Amino acid sequence: MDTDMDTPQGVIAGHRPASRALATEAVHAGRDDLARQGLHAPPIDLSTTYPSYDSRGEAARIDAFAETGAELDGPPVYARLGNPTVARFETALARLEGTESAVAFASGMAALSAVLLVRASMGLRHVVAVRPLYGCSDHLLTAGLLGSEVTWTDPAGIADALRPDTGLVMVESPANPTLAEVDLRAVAHACGSVPLLADNTFATPVLQRPAEQGARLVLHSATKYLGGHGDVMAGVVACDEEFAGKLRQVRFATGGVLHPLAGYLLLRGLSTLPVRVRAASETAAELVRRLAADPRVARVHYPRIGGAMVAFEVHGEPHEVIANVRLITPAVSLGSVDTLIQHPASISHRIVDADDRRDAGVSDRLLRMSVGLEDVEDLWADLDQALTPVRTGARATMTTA
Ligand SMILES: *Cc1c(COP(=O)(O)O)cnc(C)c1O
Repeated sequence: MDTDMDTPQGVIAGHRPASRALATEAVHAGRDDLARQGLHAPPIDLSTTYPSYDSRGEAARIDAFAETGAELDGPPVYARLGNPTVARFETALARLEGTESAVAFASGMAALSAVLLVRASMGLRHVVAVRPLYGCSDHLLTAGLLGSEVTWTDPAGIADALRPDTGLVMVESPANPTLAEVDLRAVAHACGSVPLLADNTFATPVLQRPAEQGARLVLHSATKYLGGHGDVMAGVVACDEEFAGKLRQVRFATGGVLHPLAGYLLLRGLSTLPVRVRAASETAAELVRRLAADPRVARVHYPRIGGAMVAFEVHGEPHEVIANVRLITPAVSLGSVDTLIQHPASISHRIVDADDRRDAGVSDRLLRMSVGLEDVEDLWADLDQALTPVRTGARATMTTA
């Protein structure tokens, strides 16, 4: 079998196309072999195991995987070692982020866990991190569930916080939920030889490609914008092939694999990612203008980079706004085609100690909204009626970065 022609892995190795624009990659990456196979939609391979009459050959391939973690040459062996449908999504995401490789996991938290385990297995258990992070990422580090020890600092303190056993520096930009931004290039410089992990869930590669700015690891909760329809849970790390090999070995040994159906849905989600992110960002920017001019709103957070996430603080009770929305769905998560709103201090960041949360700029009045693809006037009408009971105060202040 000519594996270069027949497997998506072969497409990476043997038929990597010349550089194409993001919108083109979004619909073609991970699918380059389909036309030659007489297919249009990518096949979903649900096999957990694969027949082979050559056990000597399998022994050699498993030895090679144990050595480098490189994707298996030739047909798959067992679904925990790799799946062709998931590999299509990985190929596509790596192309969009501009990295050599990407490794997919069952959730964003499984992806972050695998990164921490890779570094801990090398004796590098210390993590330097900048708040705010997504609530559960903060919790995983603070609680030391995987044996890591965290030093929290601001971006300017990173270089001083590094120790000989520092295995990772972690930032989110824009951060969940305040949309605070860090200068990724400056942070990457401060990290020296320690890998910088940038959580790019909020920006997506449409707005920002952290690997180009020096981040060695780009993490996504693919549950959010990459899937884009609120029906897939997944995580992925885009990185160089050397680190990807270690992540695949951890994934193989710990089992946080992505299901092939999820891989299929994610690949489909990527094809509309640029269109979705740009359309929702335009609507978000208009809602930001209206919120910032509204006397019921105390403060609006919106990053310089733009995007479809908006955070704002009301003068009155944030719980009332949540209780009053009708078109907008009051729910945690983000990045779906429909607009969601939630109260971070109650839900997404509840697990973070209240003082740490407030120190990170997550006020008890903060609401986080993920703007979807609805018409802007319908969204504003809903926000306007949901805000009505809130008592008015001074004009809103606008915060960027
Ligand atoms: C949701 C989220 C995560 C965790 O991802 P899951 O897919 O829910 O495990 C990590 N980082 C950010 C920024 C998130 O929003």
